[in-house]
Amino acid sequence: MFATRFAPSPTGRLHKGHAFSALTAWSAAKAAGGRFVLRIEDIDPTRCKPEHEAAILEDLAWLGLDWETPVRRQSDHLSDYAAVIDDLNRRGLIYRCFRTRKEVLASIGDAPHGEMEAVRPGPHPREEEARLMAENRPFAWRLSLDRAREALGESLWNGLSFVEEGAGPAGETGVLPVRPEAAGDVVLARKDAGVAYHLAVAHDDALQGIDHVIRGEDLFEATHVQRLIQTLLGWPAPVYRHHRLLTGPDGRRYAKRDQSVTLAELRAGGLTAEALRAELGFSSVD
Ligand code: GLU
Repeated sequence: MFATRFAPSPTGRLHKGHAFSALTAWSAAKAAGGRFVLRIEDIDPTRCKPEHEAAILEDLAWLGLDWETPVRRQSDHLSDYAAVIDDLNRRGLIYRCFRTRKEVLASIGDAPHGEMEAVRPGPHPREEEARLMAENRPFAWRLSLDRAREALGESLWNGLSFVEEGAGPAGETGVLPVRPEAAGDVVLARKDAGVAYHLAVAHDDALQGIDHVIRGEDLFEATHVQRLIQTLLGWPAPVYRHHRLLTGPDGRRYAKRDQSVTLAELRAGGLTAEALRAELGFSSVD
């Protein structure tokens, strides 16, 4: 059965960009007679707040959406992700990284065209790692692209792909090749949380039977990483639909960091959900 999701992080109040994304996914589920899942992605212990989670549920209900219950809250399931990290570690696909952000940045040079090279610091020398572990220093787990490539073999590695039914930032659509190199040796478990975004998303999409990932084109690059993770773990490949990002009157996209006007403020100012849905191009929720 068609199943999609909206997976906000409770780091602030929702704005119109979120409303557009949630309505896009929800409408697709309704049109297909499928499932709509709401997932709270709150693994960042410093930025996520319970009050934002409550506000998200309130805003989405006001918007006219409904979803399956119970709602999965990622921070309640850290042991699930830890089990996957154990598995990847046993298979030698990840390595401990004790470096600070500054050290990681210093480890990358400038690529010929002035773009930053992908972050691939590599494992620490064995003795150094043993010393850092003995000192109980915190570490992240990074995916080793070299080991992943070895594990999959050249033909599987070169044939990695995903189906894009929407379009990427440059209009990419159809069966697209996965380019894991672009993201580098991504962190799969943060020092402070025991898991990181890509692993939690790929795990939960598989666990929740999500076969259509519908989300903004800002996460297009993330799809490359997540397809690799799914392949390494034998999880199914969803179809992807990346949608355009909504822009405000100034032509810039909505983002929490710009203090975009929130749905709660719009509501307090008298905007009705019906008017907002119509403005965003969704005429009816029936
Ligand atoms: N939690 C992510 C965010 O709020 C979205 C994850 C996803 O849709 O894959 O940006």
